Amino acid sequence: MNKNKALVVFSGGQDSTTCLFWAKRAFKHVYALSFRYGQKHEKEVELAREIARKAGVDFGVMDVPLIGRLGHNALTDTSMPMDEQIPDGAFCPNTFVPGRNLFFLSIAAVYAREQGINHLVTGVSQTDYSGYPDCRDSFIRSLNVTLNLAMDEQFVIHTPLMWLDKAETWALADELGVLDLVRHDTLTCYNGIPGDGCGHCPACKLRREGLEKYLLMKNKEL
Ligand code: ZN
Repeated sequence: MNKNKALVVFSGGQDSTTCLFWAKRAFKHVYALSFRYGQKHEKEVELAREIARKAGVDFGVMDVPLIGRLGHNALTDTSMPMDEQIPDGAFCPNTFVPGRNLFFLSIAAVYAREQGINHLVTGVSQTDYSGYPDCRDSFIRSLNVTLNLAMDEQFVIHTPLMWLDKAETWALADELGVLDLVRHDTLTCYNGIPGDGCGHCPACKLRREGLEKYLLMKNKEL
């Protein structure tokens, strides 16, 4: 296993793009891996490819349509609107894709192993986790142990955003010199609009509020 290589689970959104540049600073060779899982906005894969090209990192795509077909959720089902918030009686929004991070990270680990990579990077965050159980630190730690036991390897899962809120994630992008790239080239919006997005879906709101908070803090410091 090569300590200079890392694989980033990469969607082309704000979080994983920030992680991609974080990984570029921390490791000599960085690989980005995206997934096509039947998401409504498949163009996010092409945006991801373009960001990876700009970042100068190797890019790969895995086709895993099974994940979209297994569960019933608003990210893959075109007949379902995306909830603005967690519905009464539910534990998380209908944009939750059950098992997604479990599948993605497991597949990423197998892929990484083939390439002699043991560092995995994911943009999950417990701070703004919106009720998604597989974004929590306890899950990632548990999975890290499981992957090592499953393949008798020494994977290390890095989660640079785990304890950052959205404003702090923008601050990290700025520190890495990619605030403008993250702002204009990434896709976070549930309605599939890159950059500042549609402005009203939950993902856009979270992203914009974080950016406004960060820019306010930055301007006070100047
Ligand atoms: Zn939006």
